[in-house]
Amino acid sequence: MGNQPDSYIGRFAPSPSGPLHFGSLVAALASYLDARANNGKWLVRIEDIDPPREPAGTADLILKTLEAYGLHWDDSVLYQSTRSQCYDDVLEHLLTTEELYPCICTRKQLSGLNGVYPGYCRDNRNVPSQPHALRLRCHDQVIHFTDRIQGRYSFDLSELGDFTLKRKDGLYAYQLAVSVDDYFQGVTHIVRGVDLLDSTPRQIHLQNQLGYPNPMYAHIPVIVESDGNKLSKQNHAPAIPQDEPRPLMIKAFSALGMQADNQLEASTIEEILQWGIENWSPTALLQKSKILQTSIQ
Ligand code: GLU
Repeated sequence: MGNQPDSYIGRFAPSPSGPLHFGSLVAALASYLDARANNGKWLVRIEDIDPPREPAGTADLILKTLEAYGLHWDDSVLYQSTRSQCYDDVLEHLLTTEELYPCICTRKQLSGLNGVYPGYCRDNRNVPSQPHALRLRCHDQVIHFTDRIQGRYSFDLSELGDFTLKRKDGLYAYQLAVSVDDYFQGVTHIVRGVDLLDSTPRQIHLQNQLGYPNPMYAHIPVIVESDGNKLSKQNHAPAIPQDEPRPLMIKAFSALGMQADNQLEASTIEEILQWGIENWSPTALLQKSKILQTSIQ
């Protein structure tokens, strides 16, 4: 990787569905350390495309928490709620290529199908007046990519099935918004949790359809609780404290395979992060399993 500032642009892209928890701190930290260790930019994007699931004030709380942990971003924060026009333009373009089609299937029709869409609406050309989703075709095609941590992957798109870019309720789908905005922001390197690994071939497929370059990917292990459930907002993982970031930062290093000296905790958060940048090595995660069990107590 080069030393030109824009040859590396990374990002952390939280959905504001709840405050930052330890798992999201680890994901934010990994993407920050990777960007800074490569003299890159680190952007923050708020993925606020699902208003019913976003309690008021959560995006601000996430940003304040990142600052309390010394994770200062470059440029201004991009909010996906401001990006509808761009998403609509992309959808309109894809409709003209006939790779995107309106789908009027009901949830009931699609139940019991293992999540793979059977293509009932594939030949629909006219956009109906009734509520409909917009789906992207997945041809018989294998998407290959090499993840910097997880290694080489091949996914058969036909096994993933045609996927939604706009939902029937009118909300934009994550796969659309994330791909359009990673391109818009010039993101070259994506570091995120391995729970998103099977979204990656869908995003690469969409990038290819739109003529966007494919970023480099590194999927870090996800943090699970002792009961085996992923630490997540949906599982009500506790918010991380803002007043004393240092102990959790050291713990986050250890989740990322970096063993800091006990004395580091007495340093300032800036010094702690500097240690992290100097000692960051995504290959330290190669030895780890995809799941890290940890408790933040
Ligand atoms: N917004 C997603 C989340 O909070 C992450 C998106 C991504 O990193 O691609 O889980």
